[in-house]
Amino acid sequence: MQTQLESGQSFDNYIAGRSVASLSGQRFESINPANGQAWGSFAESDRDDVDLAVAAARDALAGAWGKLSPTRRGRLLMAWGEKIAARSEKIARLESAQNGKLLAEMKAQANVVKEWLYYFGGLADKIEGRVIPIERQSVLNYTLREPLGVIGVIVPWNSPTFLTIMSCAPALAAGNTVVLKPSEVTSASAFELARLAEEAGIPPGVINVVTGARAVGEALVNHEGVAKICFTGSDSAGRAIASQAGARLASCTLELGGKSPNIVFGDALVDNAVVGLLSGIFAAAGQTCIAGSRAYVHESIYDEVVDRLVQRAKGIRLGDPLAPDTQMGPAATAMQLRKNESMVAKAVDAGAQILHGGRRASVPGLEQGFFFEPTILHRLAADNPIMQEEVFGPVLAVTPFRDDDEVVALANGTKFGLAAGVWTRELRRAHSMARRLQAGTVWINTYRAMAFNSPFGGYKDSGIGRVNGMESVDQFLQTKSVWCETSDEIQDPFVLKV
Ligand code: NAD
Repeated sequence: MQTQLESGQSFDNYIAGRSVASLSGQRFESINPANGQAWGSFAESDRDDVDLAVAAARDALAGAWGKLSPTRRGRLLMAWGEKIAARSEKIARLESAQNGKLLAEMKAQANVVKEWLYYFGGLADKIEGRVIPIERQSVLNYTLREPLGVIGVIVPWNSPTFLTIMSCAPALAAGNTVVLKPSEVTSASAFELARLAEEAGIPPGVINVVTGARAVGEALVNHEGVAKICFTGSDSAGRAIASQAGARLASCTLELGGKSPNIVFGDALVDNAVVGLLSGIFAAAGQTCIAGSRAYVHESIYDEVVDRLVQRAKGIRLGDPLAPDTQMGPAATAMQLRKNESMVAKAVDAGAQILHGGRRASVPGLEQGFFFEPTILHRLAADNPIMQEEVFGPVLAVTPFRDDDEVVALANGTKFGLAAGVWTRELRRAHSMARRLQAGTVWINTYRAMAFNSPFGGYKDSGIGRVNGMESVDQFLQTKSVWCETSDEIQDPFVLKV
């Protein structure tokens, strides 16, 4: 499927277990953000290529995959997890070269997805219907839980393998097949995942990969043969996808962006809270949906916490994402770098003050890389654009607060509701905050924790539906109600009983 070229690597679509060039012959290039150089080339697909992939996924559903027992299906998912973990170094290198995130983080993600595949593999044969106690006792009424069909999975660039598995694991456990459209920024690892699935024994056609930009995603969303879209990405794309899918009555799960508050109360363990604030925003150069981009710090400890944040931010080592001592890599794309710059400039125009950073950074030997300084802003009005819109970069906005009611109003005052952090040693306050914050995940005295068995998703404009945990499998199933009359009596509506 993969051929070495002098200038980089070349990948075609992966359909029904085979490498297939795009029908139009068009290609596009991906760029290594650490040095600004072209890294590899991919098929620029269109509706016709999506057609082929959907047909392959339907064939697999009607054929080998659909005929497997749920137990066997689950075992294959587990075996897939083992294969991915064994190749985590290769997968991480492919991803790091395309999104500039630290090799160590990409490798940890490629390793940990086996836990997701063990869990969802284990759930495959625990999908059960029910027997319903109908009024008429001679009727046996039961439910069958059936797969939806072909699932279109569309993912962003920030954690390609991790997010692909979060969507695919429950979809496949439920017995569906998949057409995957990776981000045009990070398409390479998807091919490795699809190939490893087949090495693990998952039949060809169960996971198909088509690459390209937004137009391919739209073709997938609009394809009549696709039963459901599982989308992870920006809220603007999510909105467009929901309306297109809605127009043909296809359902979607949407995992979208955030503007998550990270709240430090006066009684918090300050050392831990500072680590939580820093790692919440500067890990992964702020390029995570759960970035704690708004810090609210109680006025009694505000100056101390802000000083410590600035000191720590000054010490963060920017550099080559492949180097083990690098702490922060570049922005993934030139466009993301420009967005970081322009959003900070707009924030300053609206009255914000820069405490640290705010500019492109130059890294010796990687002068063409898309590096941006870890940035801390304060003196921000609640309606400053940077308090409302996602940057998806290493930009932290810090604001003081006086009391619980004030901080709840500030924290809930955006359209997003993905996650929130609370730092306090006061038990009642912690749980009261957990109830009052409008977010799909609330972390108390920790941040960025996630597990295969704990539901994850957004309130408000951060999304619809959940990944992780048992309920995510339900979202890839439909329920059939079966009625069986077990007596010899027939109810004839045209014969009057006297
Ligand atoms: P994006 O929305 O621009 O693109 C995501 C994917 O969707 C890409 O594959 C893209 O080609 C495709 N796409 C874009 N517009 C489309 C359309 N109209 N129809 C069909 N497909 C379309 O997002 P991005 O810049 O790649 O990723 C960053 C965003 O992802 C951030 O907003 C971040 O918060 C979000 N994100 C959310 C989660 C989560 O779990 N909630 C996780 C990671 C990232």
